[in-house]
Amino acid sequence: MAKVAFLGLGVMGYPMAGHLAAAGHEVTVYNRTAAKADAWVAQHGGAAAPTPAEAAKGAEFVLSCVGNDDDLRQVCTGADGAFAGMAAGSVFVDHTTVSAAVTRELHAAGNEMGISLVDAPVSGGQAGAENGQLVVMCGGDEDAYKRAEPIIDSFAKACRRMGESGAGQLTKMVNQICIAGLVQGLSEGLHFAEKAGLDGRAVIDVIGGGAAGSWQMLNRYETMLDDHFEHGFAVDWMRKDLNICLSTADETGASLPVTALVDQFYKDVQKMGGGRWDTSSLFKRLRAMG
Ligand code: NAP
Repeated sequence: MAKVAFLGLGVMGYPMAGHLAAAGHEVTVYNRTAAKADAWVAQHGGAAAPTPAEAAKGAEFVLSCVGNDDDLRQVCTGADGAFAGMAAGSVFVDHTTVSAAVTRELHAAGNEMGISLVDAPVSGGQAGAENGQLVVMCGGDEDAYKRAEPIIDSFAKACRRMGESGAGQLTKMVNQICIAGLVQGLSEGLHFAEKAGLDGRAVIDVIGGGAAGSWQMLNRYETMLDDHFEHGFAVDWMRKDLNICLSTADETGASLPVTALVDQFYKDVQKMGGGRWDTSSLFKRLRAMG
């Protein structure tokens, strides 16, 4: 069992850190809003620290799941950041969805201090985090990855190293690109069914097991038809991710016309007040258009 620190007890981080404690690791948590860290300790035991640096002291592994590039920089190398508390030879595992650029920047900064950074963004959403069934896409040094894998396994159903630093984040971008176009297609299908006077539920019942079936279709069609979007993966987070995809595509020369268009549709959803709605709210946008 290892001595582990976890930084960022949000929708994802709180249950992920819980799985580490349940697996028997000695966990110290840090959360910017201290009340959440206190609640976590009351539920799971372990300890809370007032800064990332203090949480990281003596830890063999420091895990994070915060918001965006700037947030990650702050908890790693900002004032009282984790790197200042980490010993040479320890491993930082980042589960935040961020750019490959910030990952490589922090990987290099860590290397100078003898700290290995593994990028390890996740897929599977809140339910995956709560059930310990996340898919984890990793990048970084092979040796650090091998050491981190058993720790990550506490909350993962699948975990794989995709290459050097940044490769995990690039894989997560592929995941988001695939989801964006698919959710718009699903929304258009359900919208078309409604306009044509079909029973949306019956339609999915028939086509859901065929070539058009998808995780999004099977897990989201009911809530979409019920106009229920106060759950799941927030549109604000999706736009953050799609912006990372689009700027990376500019650098690599990839062409992402559908992703760029769907990003603009999500902007419309934000204007409707749906920044925290689930990404399936693209359907609500179509319904609102009449
Ligand atoms: P969340 O509920 O908003 O939690 C964000 C966490 O990061 C909170 O603990 C927050 O602290 C902390 N934080 C943010 N900025 C910080 C800063 N500058 N310094 C210190 N702490 C900071 O978000 P989430 O849904 O857990 O998502 C976290 C990450 O996972 C995001 O990158 C997201 O894109 C990714 N992700 C989310 C999902 C999902 O379904 N939710 C799925 C896959 C990937 P406070 O409590 O003080 O605000």
